Amino acid sequence: MNIKKTLVVIGNGMVGQHFLANLVANPIKDNYDIVTFCEEPRVAYDRVHLSEFFSGKSAEDLSLVEPGFFEQSGITIHIGDKAAKIYRDSKTVVSEKGITIRYDKLVLATGSFPFVPPVPGHDRAQCLVYRTIEDLEALAAAAKNSKVGVVVGGGLLGLEAAKALKDLGLQTHVVEFAPRLMAVQLDDAGGAMLRSKIEDLGVIVHTGKNTSLITDGEHCANKMCFADGEELETDLVLFSTGIRPRDDIARDCALEVGPRGGIVINDQCLTSDPDIYAIGECALWNGMIYGLVAPGYAMARTVVANLAGKMAYFTGADMSTKLKLMGVDVASIGDAHAKTPSALVYAYQNGADAVYKRLVVSEDKQFLLGAVLVGDASSYGTLLQYYLNGIELPENPDSLILPSRSDESVGLDPDALPLSAQICSCYDITKGAVCQAIEAGCNTIGELKAQTKADTGCGGCAALLKSVMDSELAKQGYEVNTDLCEHFAYIRQDLYTLIRVEEIKTFNNLLERYGKGKGCEICKPEVASILAPTGMTIS
Ligand SMILES: Cc1cc2nc3c(=O)[nH]c(=O)nc-3n(C[C@H](O)[C@H](O)[C@H](O)COP(=O)(O)OP(=O)(O)OC[C@H]3O[C@@H](n4cnc5c(N)ncnc54)[C@H](O)[C@@H]3O)c2cc1C
Repeated sequence: MNIKKTLVVIGNGMVGQHFLANLVANPIKDNYDIVTFCEEPRVAYDRVHLSEFFSGKSAEDLSLVEPGFFEQSGITIHIGDKAAKIYRDSKTVVSEKGITIRYDKLVLATGSFPFVPPVPGHDRAQCLVYRTIEDLEALAAAAKNSKVGVVVGGGLLGLEAAKALKDLGLQTHVVEFAPRLMAVQLDDAGGAMLRSKIEDLGVIVHTGKNTSLITDGEHCANKMCFADGEELETDLVLFSTGIRPRDDIARDCALEVGPRGGIVINDQCLTSDPDIYAIGECALWNGMIYGLVAPGYAMARTVVANLAGKMAYFTGADMSTKLKLMGVDVASIGDAHAKTPSALVYAYQNGADAVYKRLVVSEDKQFLLGAVLVGDASSYGTLLQYYLNGIELPENPDSLILPSRSDESVGLDPDALPLSAQICSCYDITKGAVCQAIEAGCNTIGELKAQTKADTGCGGCAALLKSVMDSELAKQGYEVNTDLCEHFAYIRQDLYTLIRVEEIKTFNNLLERYGKGKGCEICKPEVASILAPTGMTIS
């Protein structure tokens, strides 16, 4: 007799899959028959790296599911089948293809959808969004017969999409409603600096523009009309104007949703029904929808722990972010707008090199509260560690943002980090876990990545992971390979000298002459920080 309970997961996106991967690694999995509904025509893939589809990565390359995962773990997945209804009285889920499953526990991981403002004409041909592989296929097809493209929305994702349009060969515009780009993350000076950087890439930026109509163009397929009377002809319009949680299925069965959407969850990620959890971008915790993957992963781990009988809680997540746009380094940490009462601000602005850095520190100058980096984000990893771990700042905090006019890298000694310091926020890997893996025999970045999963998410922790590894291996008496990374067989000091002596002006030039491959999250920012004070560039 089958005494197992049934657990149903709706949505096999990034967070749904992270939940399943954690669940099958926990003995509690043996208590459940697990069934998941996957609306998309393929299993979970890496949306964070979606833009790499345009640099040749296939849907298979982006997959987050190990081959054989579902077969080996005994999970039933219904691909291309959307869960249509939840009947809470009978505890059943019914899919669009007519499958009915009775559940004991249900996890909603339905993600979000791109919000498209309801301006007249928003649904015309070649008006697109940027969320799924199918969206990118549609974009690539539309770009083939287009000359001009407009991205509506100058946030993180909009700028990433603008880079994609540019790379597809279109004359590219970004239209932003707010008076500056990345308005959520940047202050006025940072936004202005970013604008000049983006314009240097050949993207035309229009801020303070309210689109009121999209209609037939005269020279292009479409014409955008703005509230101020101006017009912009374009073949293609790409909306990147925010996300909205996919909470319809929850509304429909009368689960509590927030006034502006999102399935309300408590600290255990439980909805208003004690047998239904919600995780990821569909979930509203403490009035907040997180549009980032790491908080969703933390929610997924919380639910697995709760199912296993532990008292685990989701307690919020850091929203620091870094733009993944080659050629424009932008990052924002914590209280970037200095809203904390009595916070002090240090700012460094270098108009010639288009570098802007701002530190927000506590009144006693002891702790970092926030930061904005534009043009050179090489100190992002270091600053993030100061911020996340409450590490005491150096006597002169501005030394962390002033340009290093020497071959010294201004970094944080990895030994200053406590073992509890989070190195990789995507997979919640602490310095302690990294040290344990090193003690167990990992002595290359590849081995550490495979063993711990650190640096396999957004890649933002690559440099920090390497410096922790080097420091730990040195302590164990290993001769540490001091190469900057796999692309440059030089230490920073050597690269500094080569750049100065040979008057190298760009990252690509340095790579061609002294490196190999395409570069990575370690060498790109490091070289940028050497080039920046000389007026040279990374592109
Ligand atoms: C281009 C791009 C770049 C990004 N870059 C970053 C970044 O650098 N850093 C970062 O942290 N985040 C980034 N994000 C955001 C990140 O991708 C999301 O935070 C993450 O995907 C959220 O995971 P999720 O599982 O909640 O939602 P999703 O990944 O969207 O998955 C939800 C899944 O559920 C499915 N679904 C919905 N309803 C149903 C139903 N009724 N039945 C069956 N299936 C259903 C959907 O089709 C979807 O496949 C980026 C997003 C995009 C689009």
